[in-house]
Amino acid sequence: MAPPPLQVTSARDVLAQIDAGLAESREAGRATGLILIQIDRLNELRISVGLAAAEQLQMQLDQRLQGLARSRDRVLRISDDQRVLLVPMLMNPGQVELAAGKILREIDACRLASDHSIALQSRLGVAVDDVGKCTAEALLRHAQAAISLAARKGETVGHAHDLTEIVAESDIRLEAEIERGLGQGEFEIWCQPKLDLVTRLPVGAEGLVRWRHPSRGLVPPDEFLPTAERSGRIVQLTWSALNIGLQQLTQWPASCGDTGIAINVSASCLYQAGFVHQVLDALSIWSVPPQRLTIEVTETVAMTNAELSDRVLRTLREAGVRVSIDDFGSGYSSLSYFKRLPADEIKIDRAFIQDLIHDDADRHIVATIIELSRRFGLNVVAEGIEDEATLECVATMGCDVAQGYLIARPMPHEQIIDYLAQAFGTVDSRAG
Ligand code: C2E
Ligand code: CA
Ligand code: CA
Repeated sequence: MAPPPLQVTSARDVLAQIDAGLAESREAGRATGLILIQIDRLNELRISVGLAAAEQLQMQLDQRLQGLARSRDRVLRISDDQRVLLVPMLMNPGQVELAAGKILREIDACRLASDHSIALQSRLGVAVDDVGKCTAEALLRHAQAAISLAARKGETVGHAHDLTEIVAESDIRLEAEIERGLGQGEFEIWCQPKLDLVTRLPVGAEGLVRWRHPSRGLVPPDEFLPTAERSGRIVQLTWSALNIGLQQLTQWPASCGDTGIAINVSASCLYQAGFVHQVLDALSIWSVPPQRLTIEVTETVAMTNAELSDRVLRTLREAGVRVSIDDFGSGYSSLSYFKRLPADEIKIDRAFIQDLIHDDADRHIVATIIELSRRFGLNVVAEGIEDEATLECVATMGCDVAQGYLIARPMPHEQIIDYLAQAFGTVDSRAG
């Protein structure tokens, strides 16, 4: 007889059941394993096969999970897209790995009767309490963090031994802090000039986010962007960066002419419905002509979900906004990629530039990128220029623009105004 369908269990019940399993193992001096099963892209599945068929697949999964559970194991339905297999009384932690392997096979076996090509997509997070000290809450959180880690690395199974509880906890705290900081307007945009290698004048500047934290001081992006990205706060952060950047641009000296600003946009923002509209709205709010805004997306973003990103980037370009492909060469670029690249500019990844003088292979790669860019009418920026020799090398090789510490480090708003005023030979034109 098929087991009864699993009901969504309240958080309190889930924790109580996990606690019971932990207590049982603890008494026997054994370990407890917890496997969190996350069904990915459930919404997309529903859209493509319909609600009833998607539910059929979920029911198959529940039955198969109950089928593989031993008498002491517990299968819990946390939410529509999350299940837990709790494995108490482990003889050794390896047993939980075996269970994870079995789960993956069972998930793969869940198929629609009407179409065998349709399968569930999933990710697992594995956590083990082998010291008998974990609470239910902590064990579950470990498994959740393990799934996030796996998602970031593009892996199917994440293991909680790759992280510590501190990481998960500090991540949650940091997320709350980011939200607070956004509310308090603590994020700033610092600008790093881009230099035209022919005229040796700035052609624009890249806006880079900085967090003026009340107790930590100035926090660089790599300390908060990964958390902002994971928690979804990146969307709000990007809109804030775009608006601050455009507002600052309106205060640049008039002598700058059309010199523009570049804003970095991550995948989660680019793929948001209404992204282009919001960009155009921001331009109109600040009365900035679209040609003065460049949207930088990394090569990896432009390549993943190519169809969607092509469409978004093309629409932006049609509206007059410039598009720049960041960190070029670091992803999966193929030569055919050049053919369809919906961009005005590519920025060669710093990794190829930094050792250019001494590394023949890097020079060959850069020369090839420049040559192809020429053929396809793309501007080429060399990033991460730190010394005169490299600057002259990229200039000789035919790069159009250079950016790097040699030219200038990213600087706050007041300084970029002075920098630009000086570069364009004018006195500061700030009002007041
Ligand atoms: P990126 O877009 O590749 O930005 C260039 C990074 O290289 C900046 O680091 C810049 O300060 C640094 N850099 C510039 N010249 C040199 C150089 O000569 N040598 C070296 N070693 N580094 C140089 P930063 O400001 O720490 O930003 C790091 C990354 O954070 C950026 O990489 C970008 O991916 C991301 N980021 C920054 N601001 C934003 C933002 O507003 N939104 C989003 N989504 N990402 C942002
Ligand atoms: Ca960038
Ligand atoms: Ca870059």
